This record gives sequence, C-alpha cells and structure tokens, in this order.
Amino acid sequence: MKKGKGQLLFRNALLDWFGANQRDLPWRRTYDPYHIWVSEVMLQQTQMERGVEYFNRWMERFPDIRSLADASEQEVLKAWEGLGYYSRARNIRAAADVLLAEYGGVVPEDYAALLALPGIGPYTAAAVMSIAFNQPYPVIDANVERLFARIDNVARPMKEKAVYQNLEKILATMLRTAPPRDFNQALMELGALVCRPRNPLCGECPLGTQCRALAAGTVMQRPVLPPRKETIDIVMACAILKHNGKFFIQQRRSDDVWGGLWEFPGGRLKNGESAAQAAARELYEETELRAVNLDPFRTVTHHYTRYRVTLHAFFCNISKVPEPRLHAATAFRWVALDELDRYPFPSGHRQLIAHMKR
Ligand code: SF4
Repeated sequence: MKKGKGQLLFRNALLDWFGANQRDLPWRRTYDPYHIWVSEVMLQQTQMERGVEYFNRWMERFPDIRSLADASEQEVLKAWEGLGYYSRARNIRAAADVLLAEYGGVVPEDYAALLALPGIGPYTAAAVMSIAFNQPYPVIDANVERLFARIDNVARPMKEKAVYQNLEKILATMLRTAPPRDFNQALMELGALVCRPRNPLCGECPLGTQCRALAAGTVMQRPVLPPRKETIDIVMACAILKHNGKFFIQQRRSDDVWGGLWEFPGGRLKNGESAAQAAARELYEETELRAVNLDPFRTVTHHYTRYRVTLHAFFCNISKVPEPRLHAATAFRWVALDELDRYPFPSGHRQLIAHMKR
C-alpha cells in the first residue's frame, strides 16, 4: 500500500464500508470491556455464529466479573463445553478472581495490567485496549493477515517475523489518525465478510482499486501459508462402566489438556492391543476396577489441535463394587443417564453420551 494519500484512501474506504456493513454482534451494543474480552477469547478457533450463541449463554449465566468469580470451575467449564481449548475457560475464571481482588471487578484500561492476567496474551490485550477502550493498539488476527497479504501481494508467510513486524508498523502508522475501535474492527470484518479465504468478493470490495494481488491475479495464492502440520491419528478406547443403573465417571486432573472435565476411564491403545483390551486395562490402571462383560458400544471421532482421535467405547460391568482408587483423576461419581448433562465432558465423550440417550 502506498504511504500518505494511499493510506488515507484506504482508511476512508474501509471505515465507510464498515459503517454501512458491520454486523450487529451482541458485544458491539455496549463495548463493555468484559464483553469484549470474553468474545475475543471465545472467537479464537470458533466460528462467529457459534461464538455468538456461546457468548449470549455465557452473559446470561455470568453477566459480570463478580458472578464469574463467584462461579465454580465446574460451572464455567460447563458453559464452555463444546468450544474446546478448555484452558481458556479456566484462565478466564482465574482472571476474574484477580480482577475482583485487585481491580474491584473492573477490567483495567492498561495494556500491561491486561497482559499480566491469566490467559491474556498480546492479541487479546490489544483487542480489549482498542475495541473496548478505543486506544491505538494494532489487532492482527487471521482475517487482517489475509487482507494485507492480498492488498500488498505479500509473497512470504505473514507470520514471518519481518513480514509481521512490517504489518504492525503499517497499522501503528494508520492508527495515528484512525479511530482505533472502528478501524481494527473494520479490518477484521472486511477480512471475514469480503476478503474471505475462499471465494473472496473482490467485485464488492471497497479496497479493490488498491489491491495488488487483484491486479496481479494472485488473490488465491495469498496469503502464502507456512508448511501445513500433519494431522496425527490417535486411537483410544474407554470403558463405560454401568452398575445398578448408574455410570462411572471421573474428573480429569487440572494439569492436563481436558483438566477439570469429566470422562469415562480410558486411554490410548498400546502396540498389538485390541480396543477392548485397552479399555479394560485403562479402567484398571486408572481406578483399580476390573471390567467384566465388555460389550462394544460405539466408535466416534473428534479433533483437537492437530489430533484426530478415534475413540472406541465399550459398555462393561464389574462383579462387585469396591471403592475405586483413582490414579488419573481427582474425583469420581456414579451418575444416572439423565444426570450426565450436568457435567462438562470432552467432545468424544459428549458424542457417546448423545448416543447413549438414543
Ligand atoms: S480486492 Fe479481493 S483480494 Fe483484494 S482485498 Fe478486496 S476482497 Fe481481498
């Protein structure tokens, strides 16, 4: 993009477009810093429609920082259930404690103070500073990266240090004269609605005359992506232990990826082991309970980060009910089928519960 007049034209065209086309999103009605913070964290790795649904439910349940700090981790995880990356929910809850103790339950208008809160990194801190407090902090998400990769026809990955720093510099310059809240949102909105990853709407784009990729015919080659990380397949098995009409569930330790969530005991298959053998072994290793009458139930698949998990589930019984000794969990319950929904589970286990209800 050309400096000076070029940036001015860019800014004006962008802001005009945003004024006429921005979506009516719930957090845009008040720009409350708590709303902006939660929405930004929720929308990472989440589609907008789904994010709005979770956001509205969350704000009904936790309308302010005090109600969030007063809630148990279980309640917070339940409200987050299905969004994945559960450390984000635990961090929001932990940050609410700090905000209540140190800032009277108010989100501070201070970049360094925001960065010091659990789970808030440079992106979220900049988003809160600019969108909630209208301060000139560049906010660079995937939409903004893609938009600039095309506008400037950048032939290198946007995450490359020098490329990224250059983008930060351009945005910082433009933010000297642009209204930060609208400018940053406009960039993200245009990237999401018009300069889309596939099928960009170049014919409707307010920046078309300045777009170098459009002129060069390289729109679909931009942004240049770094080499894709391979998906890793994992095969797991779990034991759905039933006794007297109730099911055994256990709560994962807080230091692991699904910490604080509940599950049916299980784990990865070892070399040469069948899924049924793995389910029985994992049950014993994790609880010292011995499965009998193992019966195949369902196989489900789900994804998290780079992993594709195939989970084989087996119903089973135990001959007698000694007290389990937990080796991979912090708590256990025997729960009726219709009570399982009260507990937060990882995706694969939720799929199993849905099948059990059918
Ligand atoms: S003209 Fe097309 S490629 Fe260029 S910024 Fe607009 S939508 Fe993106």
